[in-house]
Amino acid sequence: MPDLTDQMKRFAREHGADLVGVAPAQRFADVPPERSPLSIFPEMTAAVVIGRRITRGTLRGLEEGTNLGLYEQFGYSWLDMQFVAMTTFEVTQWLEDRGWEAVPLFGFPPEAYPQGIAVREGAPAPNVYPDFDHAAVAAGLAELSYVRLALTPQFGHRQRFQLILTDAPLEGDPMLDAGLCGMCLACVEICPLGAISADHDSTVAIAGREFTVAEIDFGKCRRCQNGARPNRYHPSGAPDRRGAICMRTCMQMLEDNGKLETQFAHRFRVREPWARDALGEPTQVKTPIGPSQGTGCADPEGFRKVDEEARP
Ligand code: SF4
Ligand code: SF4
Repeated sequence: MPDLTDQMKRFAREHGADLVGVAPAQRFADVPPERSPLSIFPEMTAAVVIGRRITRGTLRGLEEGTNLGLYEQFGYSWLDMQFVAMTTFEVTQWLEDRGWEAVPLFGFPPEAYPQGIAVREGAPAPNVYPDFDHAAVAAGLAELSYVRLALTPQFGHRQRFQLILTDAPLEGDPMLDAGLCGMCLACVEICPLGAISADHDSTVAIAGREFTVAEIDFGKCRRCQNGARPNRYHPSGAPDRRGAICMRTCMQMLEDNGKLETQFAHRFRVREPWARDALGEPTQVKTPIGPSQGTGCADPEGFRKVDEEARP
């Protein structure tokens, strides 16, 4: 129903959503039951994926190393638990006011499964939680990057998502095909702990699309003192890396190469990045993306160049 879908998206944007996409239920048909939204709401027809951005300035305190807590609130806890949650809840209410059941889901890490005992034969144990990065791909908002996170044309890795499962007859969005992750390996090169493998990768299939993803040692990311955060919901969940030096470097890479729609008057990285080793001691890192302008890219031909004149 295009009208209902357009109205829902307009409402979501008016209530703070930067990103809103719809994944038809069939796109989750191949997801294992312990991660499938269909295990939570078998009659669902669609998943609505709501995203709000981590503003670029929220990363400034981490980049300079002078305010490590700013990101924790505006980039992580408040953003996830209040700002995105409020938008998600308002859209949930909007759908139910029109007679469609709507199930809001927050970003509990699927790695923490299971947390209970199955209530009937054949059912997965509670608590089933879908992978939100995969859902954002299924909703046409993102592609999966080499570091296993949703990458959008608007913000790169700078956003957080929540989900609404509904039986409303919403029209699905086409899958995104933007070639955002250029496999430049800048994230691999900059990581002070060597957590991302350049050689060991695998393929993840989401709704018929395949993505090459790295083997990542999340044990190292849990010890990382370069802007990573423990998972706020469960210690076994993947740590939050969106503010870490690897992802700040990726953002600069994407900006330098004109990959992102959101542009800025000034470059983000203007000084050599600081880094700490696993013990928290200062360390030197290879800086594929330093303070000077340049592609820093192993395969610069793979990137579209920034049109300086087009910048605000
Ligand atoms: S730094 Fe390069 S390889 Fe790593 S996620 Fe970003 S675009 Fe992909
Ligand atoms: S979070 Fe830290 S340890 Fe993990 S990949 Fe990024 S920089 Fe490396």
